[in-house]
Amino acid sequence: MKELKNPLRGRITVLLILLVAYFIATLYRSELWCNILSPLSALAAGEILIFTYRKSERSIRVRKAFLLLASGCFVWAIADILWAIIVFQGRDPESNPVIWIVYALTNLLFLITLLYFAILQFQKWDLVQFFVDLVISGYLTALTFWIIFVQKNTEILYALLALDYASVFCILSDLLICISLVSWFLSIRSGKVPSFLRIISFGLILFAITDLYYYYANYNDIYLPNTLIDFIYMTSLYIIAFGGWWKVYKKSTLYELAVIMNTGGKTRWLSLLIYPSVTFVIVYSGISDLHLSVIDFFAFAIPIFFYWGTCKYIQVSIEKEAILKQQNKILEQKVSEQIDELTFLANQDTLTTLYNRRHFMSYMEDTLHSLGKDSIIAVLLIDLDRFKTINDIYGHDVGDEVLVDLSQRMIEWNRYGATIARLGGDEFALMFAGKYSQEDIENFCEQLIALCREPIQVGDTQMNLTMSIGVALAAPDVHDGKTLLKRADIAMYHAKLQGYNKYQFYNASIDKDFKKLAKVESLLRQVDVEKDFKLFYQPQFSLPDLKLIGAEALIRWENAEMGFIPPNVFIPIAEEIDYILKIGTWVMEETISQIKKWNTHYPVQLKVGFNLSPKQFKDRGFVDLLETLISSANLDPECVDVEITESMMIDDETYVKNIFALLKKLGVSVSIDDFGSGYSALNYLNKYPFDRIKLDKSLIDDLSTEKSNSIHIVQAAINMAHASGIQTIAEGVETKEQLDILIDLGCDQVQGFLLGRPVPPNIFEEKFLIRNFRYNEFPQNQ
Ligand code: C2E
Ligand code: CA
Ligand code: CA
Repeated sequence: MKELKNPLRGRITVLLILLVAYFIATLYRSELWCNILSPLSALAAGEILIFTYRKSERSIRVRKAFLLLASGCFVWAIADILWAIIVFQGRDPESNPVIWIVYALTNLLFLITLLYFAILQFQKWDLVQFFVDLVISGYLTALTFWIIFVQKNTEILYALLALDYASVFCILSDLLICISLVSWFLSIRSGKVPSFLRIISFGLILFAITDLYYYYANYNDIYLPNTLIDFIYMTSLYIIAFGGWWKVYKKSTLYELAVIMNTGGKTRWLSLLIYPSVTFVIVYSGISDLHLSVIDFFAFAIPIFFYWGTCKYIQVSIEKEAILKQQNKILEQKVSEQIDELTFLANQDTLTTLYNRRHFMSYMEDTLHSLGKDSIIAVLLIDLDRFKTINDIYGHDVGDEVLVDLSQRMIEWNRYGATIARLGGDEFALMFAGKYSQEDIENFCEQLIALCREPIQVGDTQMNLTMSIGVALAAPDVHDGKTLLKRADIAMYHAKLQGYNKYQFYNASIDKDFKKLAKVESLLRQVDVEKDFKLFYQPQFSLPDLKLIGAEALIRWENAEMGFIPPNVFIPIAEEIDYILKIGTWVMEETISQIKKWNTHYPVQLKVGFNLSPKQFKDRGFVDLLETLISSANLDPECVDVEITESMMIDDETYVKNIFALLKKLGVSVSIDDFGSGYSALNYLNKYPFDRIKLDKSLIDDLSTEKSNSIHIVQAAINMAHASGIQTIAEGVETKEQLDILIDLGCDQVQGFLLGRPVPPNIFEEKFLIRNFRYNEFPQNQ
């Protein structure tokens, strides 16, 4: 801004010097100096206006008005130069028509300036009001002109009209300049006109009035060139230029114009009184010998009165309209808010505030169709492991809180532009679209899994969550979101099969696996239970003496088409398609008849366990069936063990108690299978009377690794069980080391590949009954 100061100061100094010099020249009526100084001054004024134009806000169109004003000054300078040339040639400039046309061009340019300004400025104005203002100020200006200038003398008017075209045009344009400026100021009802505009307006009006006076003087033959009137002409140009200078100096902006409106104020009509006042002052000061009549008085009063009434009406209706508009706006806003809320609700999961399936799907479709080059889309499907158990054990409120907590963690984690949604239940989906590498996505999966590392606290319960993630990348053969999500789902299912906290990318071989499952399902539906299934038996031994005490019956399915199908593949499917009761019944029949056989033929009292599936457990008929089978086989019920898992005991407490009571009454024993693999709620331990806990293989696997704390868990479980008179059996024992540790820990029994794999009954018989197997007789790696 400092650099601005010098050009500013320089310009105003030049202007002032020229003004004073010109003033002195007119005082001494020096024709030479006046002819030199006059065009120079006009040029200086024009230059300042160009300067203002350049310093004005580029974004506002009105600034071009400064250019128009500047060209008005330049044209004036040209006319002055022409004048001087003609004078130097010794001819009479006043009789040269070209000069008057050039001078008239200044009027025209000033008028155009006002028009241009008006067009831009009045776009937002109330036009009815402005029109009324224009009419009244036009009328009053004309009336004043008529009284003072024309002196109510039609002859003078005709004489004026008989002048040359340039003069008539100048008089008319002077009047128009006055009328438009006066009506503009009159019309302003709110906002303040910036001072530079007032100055410029004053300059323009002064110019117009001086011009009018010039014609008046000329008409009355009292005009003398290079006198005060020329000085005032020049002053008016100076004032216009000064207005521009002032704008730059005061740093006024054209934005200030935006608040100037013709609505609001109610006392505008008062300023109209200036017209009669000026007229009265001029008439009664004795400047002229005019007289005012009553008609003149009414000619002023009646229109002003009507104007007052009309304005009042217009302003009130403008106000009403504004209120209506405001109300409409409020209404519109409310409607749009409601629409927003609806869209929000429609696209949001109300529990977690994540997006819902609907939004996710449609967003995914959109993204698939607008995917840029070298961008990828990765869809991650997250499923919480064993979440149903949480819901079942702790109730849905706790389950909900867990979901909310996890969602929050994901939102906080998400700095990578992922779209996160909860698809329903414990299923979440994330979408990454952009320039990610496969490595990035793998990192994201690991970070997401790590989000569960910190336990989730709900009330005084702490929970360790794990999740399985399936990932599908958009590929050329994927055209819709559904396919992509389905692939992620297949991959997720695969991740689940690999255990907890795993992620898996979709690929064609996974798809094959998935198809394989579908195949298994169809084969299962055609299965002939008695012919196609076999029961294998895995021996169980007591510790520390390693004496055979019993076996676990494990189902086997050898299919002609697919070969061996493991039970943890087909049992869940059988559950799902309601085949499990049929299979379960057969398992029970087989097991019971097998024990009866062995216990009768050999001098043993083996206890054989079978696995009960959740659906079987829920159907109380299984106890009756068991009872029938036992009694018809005439078997000691103590030789039967029922294996159930923790998850079955979180159902309806009275039902579970009832079942336990029935089983107790029947005299069979109950073992808790897979103990330590899931969410051990442990509170069921003293609720129900079971006989044995089966320590899960995952605990036993970790026994020999020093880092894990499973040795403490196993120890605690054994201690607790013993305190309640419950037995413990370790599952999946594969090494001698594990066996030794278990003996040290005081575990009661073992089962595992180290001592015996599940085998068909005839082999079991041969190995463990006929030859009366003892562990040290067998090679280690059996
Ligand atoms: P489970 O009840 O935990 O059965 C123990 C599983 O561990 C068996 O797998 C067994 O072969 C395996 N196993 C035993 N010792 C070892 C070892 O030292 N190392 C290793 N790696 N594995 C060992 P299997 O027979 O494949 O059965 C898998 C699951 O299928 C069973 O787990 C059980 O939940 C289910 N299942 C098996 N038979 C039946 C059945 O007749 N009815 C029902 N409802 N489920 C069954
Ligand atoms: Ca079992
Ligand atoms: Ca087990």
